[in-house]
Amino acid sequence: MRRQRLSKSRFMSGLQCHLRLWYETRRPDLRSEPDEVMRAVFETGHEVGRTACLLFPGGHDVSHDHRHIPEALEETRSVIEAGSAPALFEAAFEHRGVLVRADVIERLPGGGWRLIEVKSATRLKDAFVRDAAVQLWVLKSAGLEVRDAAVLTLDRDYVHDGVTLDLDSLFRFHPVFDEAHGYRDTVGAEVRQMQRMLSRRTAPDIAPGDHCFEPYACPYHAHCTRDAVLPDHGIDELPRLDVERREELVAAGIDEIRDVPEDFPLSGLQGIVRQTIREGRATLHGDIAGALADLRPPVRYLDFETFAPAIPRFAGTRPFDAVPFLFSLHTEREGTPPVHVDHLHESDDDPRPELADRLIEAAGRDGSICTYSAYERRVLRELGEALPNRAGELRSIEARLFDLLPVVRDGYYHPEFRGSFSIKSVLPVLAAGSGYDDLAISDGRTAAVRYAAALASANPEERNRTFADLRAYCARDTLALVKLRKALSNLGREPGP
Ligand code: SF4
Repeated sequence: MRRQRLSKSRFMSGLQCHLRLWYETRRPDLRSEPDEVMRAVFETGHEVGRTACLLFPGGHDVSHDHRHIPEALEETRSVIEAGSAPALFEAAFEHRGVLVRADVIERLPGGGWRLIEVKSATRLKDAFVRDAAVQLWVLKSAGLEVRDAAVLTLDRDYVHDGVTLDLDSLFRFHPVFDEAHGYRDTVGAEVRQMQRMLSRRTAPDIAPGDHCFEPYACPYHAHCTRDAVLPDHGIDELPRLDVERREELVAAGIDEIRDVPEDFPLSGLQGIVRQTIREGRATLHGDIAGALADLRPPVRYLDFETFAPAIPRFAGTRPFDAVPFLFSLHTEREGTPPVHVDHLHESDDDPRPELADRLIEAAGRDGSICTYSAYERRVLRELGEALPNRAGELRSIEARLFDLLPVVRDGYYHPEFRGSFSIKSVLPVLAAGSGYDDLAISDGRTAAVRYAAALASANPEERNRTFADLRAYCARDTLALVKLRKALSNLGREPGP
């Protein structure tokens, strides 16, 4: 039997699902291509990896890439033997057909090496330890004296001073040698199983399930589920259905909400969802008019767009802190069309001070400010903490916030919400024709990615086009809130439950 070659990432795919590994090896054409947001996540990983290398000055970067494996193996061997480099990046090793490129190996003062796996995350996960384990198995079996192993993540406790990145504090070492070593025996057995499975011409018979998303979303999911017959309203549309309850239903062969037995324990909202699905029409179950009665004129509608750099750029921010760069505000006064104001920060310095000033100006001092979800409150609070000299005014704005999401959630359910109260689910039902399909940007994650790309772009036309797209998207969000509130007011006039 010819031994099938595995890489570290393929080994990790195989741990998740043998079918995924089989597709990656034999039918990579079946995968769904990563979207723009996913590509940005990969790029963030590279950025964090490059920054981590700065912790090891004088380290040698093994330059031969995946198309030149024999050369990379030879380069690694000769640099290690030369004995002068304190660390190697992307060092290549192979054992029994498993090829790994280690993010960092560091020469230890007393002899031997430390293996370091870099992750653009802030917490240690079991998958990272497994990742280190397969590398440890290969490196040690290939003859390298590895005496230590660690996963290097970003440290959420690190606060940037706005001047210099303190690399030692930005990263956190998680020692994983003993744990990774504990997997050592199972790695060999798993490798053998995977290689045996890959030697077969036919794909293993594995049905999609929860494992398709753990620890990573599988790019073959669309292919694997192409013929799946989905339930009309599956039990996953029950809001906040906990894992045990879900498993009970699955074990009982129940996948449709309408079939959930009357005596099955559901929360109040889950019970309303079941009733709505069974009756096949929307349920008005709360006092919407009463909830909206707290709104004070003039009513405003606020939305922020934020981006979250993995490596903090501005004073007082931590890794992955959300930094607002754009707001949109519509103001509605009795009898006149809503008036729109926005502010977009168009340069790569700290957007927060100017954005806060423009917001304080635009929000005035009276009236309620509608949002959708608690996100805007969190952003405002963090803005106040970051800008103490504007904290009082920002707190006054925060005190006027009025969240429309609980009004919907506690008052109305429609089968087409499909278990979600996100604005994108609710709006097409309550305010038809208020979608995002005509816009170049239609979700917050894409907005964050495009903003970062525009700031990095040297092309002024491209920048301006993206800035206009961002403004259009954020304005649509607050206009959507205007329409949503109107729709809710109309619902509030209907006879209650
Ligand atoms: S979608 Fe699920 S079953 Fe299909 S290959 Fe991926 S992990 Fe395996």
